[in-house]
Amino acid sequence: MSNIQQNIQHITSQINAAEKKCGRPQGDVQLLAVSKTKPVAAIYDALQAGQCKFGENYVQEGVDKTQYFADNHPELSIEWHFIGPIQSNKTRPIAESFAWVHSIDRAKIAQRLNDQRPVALLPLQVLIQVNTSGEASKSGVSGDEVFELARLISELPNLTLRGVMSIPENVSDYQSQLAAFKTLAEVKDALVKQYPQVDTLSMGMSGDMEAAIEAGSTLVRIGTAIFGARDYSNKA
Ligand SMILES: *Cc1c(COP(=O)(O)O)cnc(C)c1O
Repeated sequence: MSNIQQNIQHITSQINAAEKKCGRPQGDVQLLAVSKTKPVAAIYDALQAGQCKFGENYVQEGVDKTQYFADNHPELSIEWHFIGPIQSNKTRPIAESFAWVHSIDRAKIAQRLNDQRPVALLPLQVLIQVNTSGEASKSGVSGDEVFELARLISELPNLTLRGVMSIPENVSDYQSQLAAFKTLAEVKDALVKQYPQVDTLSMGMSGDMEAAIEAGSTLVRIGTAIFGARDYSNKA
């Protein structure tokens, strides 16, 4: 078994242990493997371990990878998630190549993704990125703005609103992690009342996965703990 495959096994057992510890059913929390900056060989390795959801942050890199697997391994069914910041002039390739987008933070982006989603594909499954850390984070909408953006998205035929995502301030103290995640969980609970198809709470990364699961995460986004440290030297 490769290192990547061992890491996936290890993370999966950590997820299962965290589920058990807080009384959640086994398998409640899904694993998104964040493969940004990593080569297609690393993704292929993870696929061999049964991993099928992958998250990418950079548009061109992500599109190249989806194209590589479509061309070379059409037999593999891979669910591609875009999780990075979105510039409005880069929405088209995202709308054309991904199944999910986690990082919608303004109306203009939602509208463009809707307009550019090819009709032959299923609606794009989307999450609103919420800022749960106030001043400490510049990305994501505030708690109040979520509902306005959700209403707009619910009126767009080529988008399906599935939930919310956040990248809280990086803190190591468990109780602070838990507090930020609980804030996002409350936003999701409020959204479900209006939009019954909302079922996804994308939160938790390599350093704060346990707190996210205790607060109700349904999808943890794990990069480093699967693929190792990232090298950004070619991303300047
Ligand atoms: C890079 C990234 C991750 C993965 O982070 P790790 O700490 O490597 O697990 C998760 N979510 C987002 C939005 C990211 O950009």
